[in-house]
Amino acid sequence: AARTHWLFGDQLGPRFIDPRHGGPDRGAPLLMIEARSVLGRRRFHRAKAHLVLSAMRHRAAELGDRVRYVRADTYREGLREALRKGERLTVHAPTSRAAAAFVAALDGVEVLPARGFLTSREDFRSWAQGREEHGLRLEDFYRRVRRSHTLLMDGADPAGGHWNLDHENREPPPRDRSRLPVPPPWRAKEDAIDEEVRRDLDRWEREGSVSFVGRDGPRRFPATRRQALAALRHFIEHRLPTFGAHEDAMLADDGVLSHSLLSSSLNLGLLDPAECVGRAELAWRSGSAPLNSVEGFVRQIAGWREFVWQLYWHFGPDYRHRNELGHRAPLPDWFLELDADAPDARCLSTVLAQVRDTGWTHHIPRLMVLGSRALQDGWDPAAVTDWFHRCFVDGYDWVMLPNVVGMSQYADGGAMTSKPYTSGGAYIHRMSDLCDGCAYRPSDRTGDRACPYTTGYWAFLHRHRDRFAHHPRMARAIHTLDRLTDLPEVLDLAARRGTAAP
Ligand code: FAD
Repeated sequence: AARTHWLFGDQLGPRFIDPRHGGPDRGAPLLMIEARSVLGRRRFHRAKAHLVLSAMRHRAAELGDRVRYVRADTYREGLREALRKGERLTVHAPTSRAAAAFVAALDGVEVLPARGFLTSREDFRSWAQGREEHGLRLEDFYRRVRRSHTLLMDGADPAGGHWNLDHENREPPPRDRSRLPVPPPWRAKEDAIDEEVRRDLDRWEREGSVSFVGRDGPRRFPATRRQALAALRHFIEHRLPTFGAHEDAMLADDGVLSHSLLSSSLNLGLLDPAECVGRAELAWRSGSAPLNSVEGFVRQIAGWREFVWQLYWHFGPDYRHRNELGHRAPLPDWFLELDADAPDARCLSTVLAQVRDTGWTHHIPRLMVLGSRALQDGWDPAAVTDWFHRCFVDGYDWVMLPNVVGMSQYADGGAMTSKPYTSGGAYIHRMSDLCDGCAYRPSDRTGDRACPYTTGYWAFLHRHRDRFAHHPRMARAIHTLDRLTDLPEVLDLAARRGTAAP
């Protein structure tokens, strides 16, 4: 008889049960376990808890009699309840080290290859071999994926003659507009399953078994394959054409700009990366989207997302504890509580409000507003990682660790990125309208109106002067630091405002 196949909560698309794609036995009975202890362990954003439960329950409803849906305290308890003694199981490789270890320790389980990504571990290993000495860099890996998957290729050459069109994709937002002139993004409509989820979350909160941060609004993100496909279609038609130019820009009244909002659907397994990049390429080939936008989008998914997935496994189990800069400050309470009224800097307050209300912001606010604040103020990188994981609808262990420990907090000392991502207020001012009406001036580094990002930037460089003095991409900044005649005042101000001591 066919073995039972266990579906984790981020394995919800058709590929995860398809025997033609290395999936379970044909017609295998399916098992899903909703483990409440996962929610009880940490304070997740309520919109995230809602989305994950809603997506799991929608999938179970679609699969009908074929699936046994068990509500239990833990996975172990769920398995005990669902399986007969000695019953054998298959499962696709889970996406976190903890779940992988749990599954590996079970008797009678066959672990099938991971799904939901374009590249395999073996692929990556053979690419990484011999490269590590000089650092593993995205650009090189991305080109290999483009070639091996024939993505945006004209024969052996990149379509349009260039691999990288980033230089066309760093435009600030148009100054005279508070929104990009594109239709609003696809929005979910809630149904009876969402109502049930909301009732359960309310009850558990009342009983005190779980506690959340953030506001629970109507669900915004897709919970089913059908919804995810509708969101993808809507993005390709309405936002992809303008995705590239303003990819790095931020607007106070338009947090989405031309971003796809597809990360949660990809990470739940509702969309497959191949279909996302395939449809984007088709849009270019049929003339409905320009190459800089399409290449930018393909780079995010076939480049960054794959790279991050592979690095999670490649860097090993100790990576989560890396703290090369020795940052140990705790996160302030207002940050933990998503209290957007607390920070005076308008950029931080605006972005924090967006996280509180939606559980999502695009890449640049994550990196250059939230992450940069943490880096400048010397917050403990493991606590920062935990915060991002809990507060973002698309946050999972595999995607958080490289993005936060590596890219955002430089806690791996540069294994993932060639320099720390942080800047003074001038960058935020150039790339957004968030400085308009702010209590601080991006150009000021001393005095009452000095921008916290500007003072924080110099204080950060000063703190790590020795490390960066001969760094190829940082030495110039250190040189400028050395010429600041008012540095003592800057450091004094940064210290009074709470920037971590050396
Ligand atoms: P788009 O801008 O429309 O990009 C398209 C897709 O590319 C995304 O949906 C995503 O699947 C993929 N992508 C782009 N960059 C990355 C990346 N660096 N890592 C992985 N996938 C990427 N992404 C997550 O999916 N989950 C996270 O928990 C997460 N945490 C982050 C934390 C920090 C500090 C930073 C700097 C980035 C993080 N990212 C994370 C990456 C990126 O910010 C989000 O994927 C993106 O903002 C999601 O919005 P979108 O779907 O509109 O993306």
